[in-house]
Amino acid sequence: MGFDTETAVAWIDTAATVVKADEARLTALDAAIGDGDHGANLVRGLTAAVAGIAEKEPSTPGEVLVVAGRGIVAKTGGASGPLYGSALRRAGKALGDTTDADAVQLGAALEAMLTAIVELGSAAEGDKTMVDALGPAVRAFNDLAADGASLPAAALAAADAAEAGLAATIPLQARKGRASYLGPRSVGHEDPGAASTALLLRALAEVTA
Ligand code: ADP
Ligand code: MG
Ligand code: MG
Repeated sequence: MGFDTETAVAWIDTAATVVKADEARLTALDAAIGDGDHGANLVRGLTAAVAGIAEKEPSTPGEVLVVAGRGIVAKTGGASGPLYGSALRRAGKALGDTTDADAVQLGAALEAMLTAIVELGSAAEGDKTMVDALGPAVRAFNDLAADGASLPAAALAAADAAEAGLAATIPLQARKGRASYLGPRSVGHEDPGAASTALLLRALAEVTA
């Protein structure tokens, strides 16, 4: 079994649960180098995503991600809402009408997420944003998928790479988003968006395991 409708729904549900459980930590990270709303923003967005899925009852994994992305764009404030929302919509579109995506197909969808975020936010790796977690995660996933690894193995490697990418944001100075207003004072903290991206990738690894 690959990434089917049920797994896609489980991903968004699990993401909502873990982000809720870690809301205070995400908020504290954003309070240090931003405006302290990242936890609340994402809880609101993912709650809307879960509600949208319950209402629309999507029948493919691609549709699940498109519906979730729409909910997030509609309900999430801040920079992260449009970024995550567009990313999920783009990932859903990349899956097309497949009912059960394999590792290569899911890897292409994750690549589409990254492309959407980079197009919208124009952050490069090293700018201390969610791209510092998602970029390495997508590379790790696709390297393994290209070698014929299973979807759970690729997802596990992606989650590990996202967490390593998150840790690597600590010494960086932010060059995008609110944290960039702090200049050198943004050094020494994890980026909140990279932290939430790491949670999303860990949730993906859990539901595909
Ligand atoms: P806001 O900063 O508007 O309050 P959030 O607190 O919800 O929005 O999200 C902040 C996170 O969004 C940052 O930690 C960073 O990871 C991400 N972010 C901000 N701007 C960009 C950008 N241009 N490209 C990619 N990610 C960004
Ligand atoms: Mg914020
Ligand atoms: Mg804000």
